[in-house]
Amino acid sequence: MLAAPIGRLAPSPTGRLHLGHARSFLLAWWHARSRGGRILLRIEDLDRERVKPGAIEVVLRDLAWLGLDWDGEPLLQSADTSALEHAVDRLIAAGDAYPCVCTRAEVAAISAPHAGEDETRYPGTCRDKWRSCADAERATGRKPAVRLRVEPGTIEFVDGLAGPRAYDVAATVGDFTIRRRDGAFAYQLAVTVDDARTGVDEVVRGADLLPSAARQKFLQRRLGLPHPRWWHVGLVLDADGQRLAKRRGDLALTTLREAGIDPRAVVAWAARVSRQPCEERVTPGDVLPGFQIERAGCEPVVLDREALDRLLAARA
Ligand code: GLU
Repeated sequence: MLAAPIGRLAPSPTGRLHLGHARSFLLAWWHARSRGGRILLRIEDLDRERVKPGAIEVVLRDLAWLGLDWDGEPLLQSADTSALEHAVDRLIAAGDAYPCVCTRAEVAAISAPHAGEDETRYPGTCRDKWRSCADAERATGRKPAVRLRVEPGTIEFVDGLAGPRAYDVAATVGDFTIRRRDGAFAYQLAVTVDDARTGVDEVVRGADLLPSAARQKFLQRRLGLPHPRWWHVGLVLDADGQRLAKRRGDLALTTLREAGIDPRAVVAWAARVSRQPCEERVTPGDVLPGFQIERAGCEPVVLDREALDRLLAARA
């Protein structure tokens, strides 16, 4: 018998959750639960500078308001970073990662931003210079970051919604950071190691992370970790075609909750725009029978004025 899948919700407490998050989290929950799977909650709080005070409590309240639950206690990513530490040490020891003392400004000055992305490609300036972080710091007086050595070639994978994808990580971002100069573990490393160590084998999340999936696959290979299966769901855009993350707080779940909106209307909206037929107000559990993630597609969903007005009128 096949083991039950393990999925996860992985919010970052760095800003307010919005309707796009609600849809991604509901899809992740439906996908796991409709197939007898487990779902974990991991709060991605490693970026100390961006974590907002009180945001973790707000995230938990927003998720509970939507009617979502999870298995076990929420896992705070910052609570135990020993596996991340160990992974970085192993990669450096194997020659797969190296210390880098370049500042952000220096990297920006030497490499042109990649077309259409706000990321720059790292040209490998610090490759092969020092054997350890301590050596790099002694030689330069700077605390180093750690970068993964990325060999040329495309990384391929098949996404459950976006289909076959191929990314040339070396040509687009180059050797990427796995630990920052301030000591914080980078998202790509943390997500890869923490998914693996908690047994997560299915990941449902926003399509903005598709290029990251290629970096994570590269890291999984280097660390000898299994590849989870991926389903990247379309982002939610407002009527002007803007990503909700770029808008002010007006579509934040907290705002809707505090305005007395019925969360069941939000759940029904998320289900319907994901082509899962349902009544106008439903709980997450009501959508489970017949749920099929494939119907959601990976194209963006537009929250037009009419749909928004309907939501805002749905008082509890
Ligand atoms: N914490 C990330 C975010 O909120 C999601 C990471 C992931 O699902 O891999 O965007």
